[in-house]
This record gives sequence, C-alpha cells and structure tokens, in this order.
Amino acid sequence: MTADPVLPLFSPDFDSARRLWLALAAERGLAVQSHVHPLCGPAGEVLAVDVVREGPADAARVLLTTSAVHGVEGHGGCAIQAGLLRQGAELLGGHPTDTAIVHVHAINPHGFAWGRRVTNENVDLNRNFVDFGQPLPGHPDYAAIHGLLLPARWPPTAENEAELSARLDAMGPRRAQMAVTKGQHTHADGMYFGGCEPTWSARVFREVLRRHTAGCQHLAWIDLHSGLGPFGVGERIFAAFDAAALPRARQWWGEQVTSVEAGSSTSIPMTGPIQWAVADECPQVAYTGICLEYGTLPLPQMLMALRADHWLHQHPEADAALAATIRRDLRDAFYPDTDAWKRQVWVQGLQAAQQAVAGLRGLAP
Ligand SMILES: [Zn+2]
Repeated sequence: MTADPVLPLFSPDFDSARRLWLALAAERGLAVQSHVHPLCGPAGEVLAVDVVREGPADAARVLLTTSAVHGVEGHGGCAIQAGLLRQGAELLGGHPTDTAIVHVHAINPHGFAWGRRVTNENVDLNRNFVDFGQPLPGHPDYAAIHGLLLPARWPPTAENEAELSARLDAMGPRRAQMAVTKGQHTHADGMYFGGCEPTWSARVFREVLRRHTAGCQHLAWIDLHSGLGPFGVGERIFAAFDAAALPRARQWWGEQVTSVEAGSSTSIPMTGPIQWAVADECPQVAYTGICLEYGTLPLPQMLMALRADHWLHQHPEADAALAATIRRDLRDAFYPDTDAWKRQVWVQGLQAAQQAVAGLRGLAP
C-alpha cells in the first residue's frame, strides 16, 4: 500500500476488490469462507462472496457488515470493509471474548463485476426477501409506467419523457419515487424487480446469516449502499422492523438516524429488503441495524442512469458506443471516483462501525 491509507481501499473493479480482501484476511491470519458463484465475471474471473469473521465463534454480540447488495455499489462498501479489516483487533477494542465482527464481502458479486446494480437474474437483491410461499404483492403504479421508463429506443424521445413526467407529477414526489423503486414482481426485465424466487445471493446470504448468528443474542448490522442523497453524505437509515429498536439505533448512531416509514429518509419503504432475513434466520437476536447510504448524484440523474442500464439489458444488440456510455454513466452514478468522495465514505464508515461496536458492548449481557 502507498503512504495514503484511504484511497487504496477503493478498487476499480470486483476482481481487484476481492484480491485486496483476500490479501488483507491473509495478512491478519483470518479464515475466509468463499461462496463461489456459478457464473464468471467479464474477464472470466471467479465471482464469490467472501465472508470473514473476526472474534470468537460463539460471541453473544455480533456486528455484521454487508457490501454490494447492489452490485455496483460495492466500490464504496467493499472499501469500507477493507479498511475495517485493516484496523485489526483495535476495532473490537483488543481481544474481546464476547463480541465478533462478520464481514460479508460482495454479496452480489455478479452485479459488482458486471457493473450492474442487480443480480445476474436482473433482480434487485434488496427486494428479494419476500415470502415466496405467499402470493406476491402487486404494484400497479409501476406497471403503469414500465413502458415509459424503458421505451423501445434509447435515449427516450421528448414525448416519452413528457408523458412520464406528467404521470409521475400527478402522483406527487413520494408516491412517484415509490412507483419506480418500491419493488415489483411482475416485470422480470424491469426495474427494481424483486424476483419470483430467491436469487443465488439471497440463498447464500441466508445460509451465512444462520451460521454466524448461532450463538448470538445481540446483532448489529451496517448494510453499505450508495446512490441516494447529497454527494458524499452517509445517511444512516434505520433498517429494522421493530419500532422499539429505533431509539437504540439513535443512541448508537445519533439522532440523525432517518426512517423510511416516517418519511424522513431519502429512501422509501420497499418490499422484501434484505433485513427481513433476520426474522427468518435468527429470530432469537435483538437486532439493531442501519443502511449507510452514501449520496452520489441527484435522484433524477441516478434514475436516468438506471433506466438506461435496464434498457441496455433488454437490448444487447445496442450500438457499442451507446452501450459503453450507458455503462460508464451507471458506474458514475453509484461510484463517484474522486478522492473527496472516497475520504468522506471511509471516515463515516469507520465511525459507524466504531459506534456499533460501542453500542453492542454497552448492552447488558
Ligand atoms: Zn443500494
């Protein structure tokens, strides 16, 4: 590593992030559990979720971190995890006997490697944790605009955009954001598709969560994202479903912890977020969690980049220059490759992890 401790934590692609992760784990003498994805990356590289646990196997208090739930957001999330691993036992305050940290590195490795937000199934992993044994929820607001979000040609015509704006304006800003991003189960080639069955990443994650919370009583979780909110600001979004956990989350992470239910967040309520796995896989834990969501571009620009990415997925025959532009714009929308953004991401990520460890340790045994 160079003298600068922060910038080298950020990797230009999945494979570099994975190599850094494996090297740091080896340096620390920590075991890695690798879950290898059935598909390869664009250069034929292995895709995998690499789990590293720091601290005792039977710890009663566990801090979980997850990155790249939305693949392309792994640039920021994996950098934070690399920095936390490099911190060493210091982050846990020496050699605790009852606290562990479990890092789930690149839970959607396919999306990260291919520069997409979704999984190889075109599924938004953070909408894929619904109960597939029950009838799937409908989302008529999305169905009404699907064809306008992803028109036959790209870029969209002025008429298309005028009609889409008119429909969204009529809904008002919050309902309009939910129309697009809440999650839907009817358009497999569409945006924010929650899938019709658990994805590979969802199945792996459930297994990891089960295994690493076997002896756990208190679970803290920081799920790392980017793409919403002011540039470089890490919004701490309450990500649990028991309202009683909100005061605890604010005690640990500050009064600025926002809530999608209360409408104080840049995000909105969604169907099937990954945190729903807690109730299924480790119902015995007292759970406190946030999404740490780093801002990049204004919402309309981010959504335009995402629409283009989905359009390209529908149109693999698209002109090569157009395809390259779309891929670059998508990456820029979730990973502003600037020194300032990276430094902001790291500082806030480290602080949130330190606060979580302190919060866990302050709880009664
Ligand atoms: Zn995200």
